[in-house]
Amino acid sequence: MLLKDKISLITGANKGIGRQIVIEFAKEGSDIAFTDIKRDENTESLIEEVKNLGRNVIFFEADVRDFKRAEEVVKEIVEKFGKIDILVNNAGINRDRVIWKMSEEEWDMVIDTDLKGAFNYIRAVVPYMRKQNYGRIINISSINGLRGKFGQANYSAAKAGLVGLTKTCAKELGKFGITCNAIAPGMIETDMIKKLPREVLDEALKETVLGKFGKPEDVAYLAVFLASDKAKHITGEIIKVDGGQYI
Ligand code: NDP
Repeated sequence: MLLKDKISLITGANKGIGRQIVIEFAKEGSDIAFTDIKRDENTESLIEEVKNLGRNVIFFEADVRDFKRAEEVVKEIVEKFGKIDILVNNAGINRDRVIWKMSEEEWDMVIDTDLKGAFNYIRAVVPYMRKQNYGRIINISSINGLRGKFGQANYSAAKAGLVGLTKTCAKELGKFGITCNAIAPGMIETDMIKKLPREVLDEALKETVLGKFGKPEDVAYLAVFLASDKAKHITGEIIKVDGGQYI
């Protein structure tokens, strides 16, 4: 088991990529704390699934935009489990519109969730990770943060922001035994892409050299590797999981 007895926190994990990361981490022996903006039937079924894998699990209803709540969540995890080893900043949203029509609210909503949300949780875990001289931070960016995307000024800016955040954290935290890396997925089959217009999906599929969209587990497998000791000498990297969509 690659993550035996680790304590992991995954944000926005009720469904999609985050949910699969929870499941793969639990299969690899990690105890799990996960968050989402609301508790629903997906939360309950994920808690059951993790328990059935024989791991401890705790859920927090928490909006990643809330700085204070992030501190509370992390404090409670450390009180319950005694430590925090791994953070995956997964929670993210899109509010797509061309720049000349984008509202201030749409801009703020995406930047606050996708970029500031990651800051909030890194800021909360780092004091504990520094003390224990160990930590793994994984930010879920996007290939659209690396190349820009028509209709996604807010999302691409936030995801590009995560690249700078990842590299800076790698530089600042390396001496404390903490690695920080990002995953940049291409199109992955989750609810997030269900809302996209047909022509956007067709165009993305045409770009993807492997000829099909990714699945949540394609991202989760890389997250397992980056969180494990097999990746102990990897930090500050942005790794694509995109079936060649970016090339
Ligand atoms: P989903 O929409 O399937 O899941 C995202 C989860 O995050 C949902 O449960 C959502 O809740 C939750 N969430 C939304 N806002 C907040 C918040 N403020 N605080 C806490 N939780 C929140 O998305 P994916 O699984 O597809 O995406 C996961 C990550 O991967 C995101 O960062 C996304 O940008 C990134 N990504 C996804 C790609 C894709 O093609 N799917 C491609 C590249 C990157 P609710 O549904 O209630 O809003």
